[in-house]
Amino acid sequence: MSALLHEARVFPEQADVEIRARTAQFVGACLASREVTFEAPELVMSRIESLHDAIQKAAEGNPEARRLVESNVRTDIMERTRKAGHVNREPLMVDEAGRIQQFGQSLESVQANSIRYAANTGQMFGRTRAEAANTFRTYYALQQGLLEDHSIVVLSRAADDMSDKDMAEAGFFVDTMSCSIQVTGYQDGQLCVDSAMVAGVRQKGQARHDQETIVKLGQKLGVDLTGKTAAEIIDMPLLVPNSMLSDGVIDLVKLYDECAGGTFFGQDKPPENYDTFRQTCQDREAFLSGKVQAITDELIGAAATITDRVHATKLLNKIAGKHMIQQAVFDTQIDPAVFGHISAIHIEQARQQWESGNYDDALTSIKQAERHDKSSSCPSGPMSSGGESGGSKEESGDCSFVSKTCPECGKKNVYTTVKRLSAKSKKITGGCGCVKFVNG
Ligand SMILES: [Zn+2]
Repeated sequence: MSALLHEARVFPEQADVEIRARTAQFVGACLASREVTFEAPELVMSRIESLHDAIQKAAEGNPEARRLVESNVRTDIMERTRKAGHVNREPLMVDEAGRIQQFGQSLESVQANSIRYAANTGQMFGRTRAEAANTFRTYYALQQGLLEDHSIVVLSRAADDMSDKDMAEAGFFVDTMSCSIQVTGYQDGQLCVDSAMVAGVRQKGQARHDQETIVKLGQKLGVDLTGKTAAEIIDMPLLVPNSMLSDGVIDLVKLYDECAGGTFFGQDKPPENYDTFRQTCQDREAFLSGKVQAITDELIGAAATITDRVHATKLLNKIAGKHMIQQAVFDTQIDPAVFGHISAIHIEQARQQWESGNYDDALTSIKQAERHDKSSSCPSGPMSSGGESGGSKEESGDCSFVSKTCPECGKKNVYTTVKRLSAKSKKITGGCGCVKFVNG
């Protein structure tokens, strides 16, 4: 028995057979568009069913719905601009009926949406079904008390059965071939999901190492993952003793890097301090919170024009892409390459033009970069490809960004907007109250 304290294991076979059967039923119901509630239907009314639903309810003033929109936006922009090397922890709530929710949306509602709207291909469907099964495994673990001393670890590699082109279309980060590591369990007494993105290639263009690395990681944890496909590995989450996860997902990232032969978050990069890395990510999130608010406001402001769930996801993708391109011009922490190579050229141009006081050309370059945005954040969401027309009415040339410090008053993390008054004159307004007019 004592060996179990330091070894991961898969879910008990007997339970897993039942979980798979339940998943099959759930998937069938989702595809038939039937109501997918299976417990406590009276609680469903107040629940938020999708991002679309959250935007609508937030527009009516529901604060919980707004938090859900903010959470979607935050995840989006962090993943969009940093495709490997980020950790994030989100709380989960267990309601009185024992159902798990994240900002008012139940986990099975999230899965139902993925099955109905995001799983467009056979390959994506296999992954989505595995993720749905993991929701039911989480319920099982919670009900059986397994989460008292274990966490559920899902290793989600980039697809291994799709072309790069199809993967890019499905929203995978093909430059980094990112693998998501998710730890669901109790951290400091709070049920939460702790996740990290690690790269599957040491450098862009190199051969993938993630399969080999994950097999070695499995060996270290005590589970044999040899010969399993990416979808099969999603479908066999591990129960890992909490004693091995004192720093949550960071402990697994360390192991992943060891197994990859000494990488940092899967990449050939100068190592940073793991112990302070979570703080670095939190600081970055805090720094960008002005952007989260701006994107959330814009989405909620458009509530009346959003027709359905797919439209809501596409609009988030579009608005977040636009905002983060603007941010990238003023924020060297963001690699312009994440927006695709054409946008990257325009962003580099805009940086130089702004630097040399050529503000009008900079704003024009920013708009061009926005038009060619190829960034996306959601590995399963149906994405509108960049470069399409539409929404051109907001070609005012205005832009906004979070500034590390206001050059006027020295205040930190200032949300700053640039307004084009004329070809010659621009007005720069800081959230701190400072206003500056510039020519050029
Ligand atoms: Zn100021």
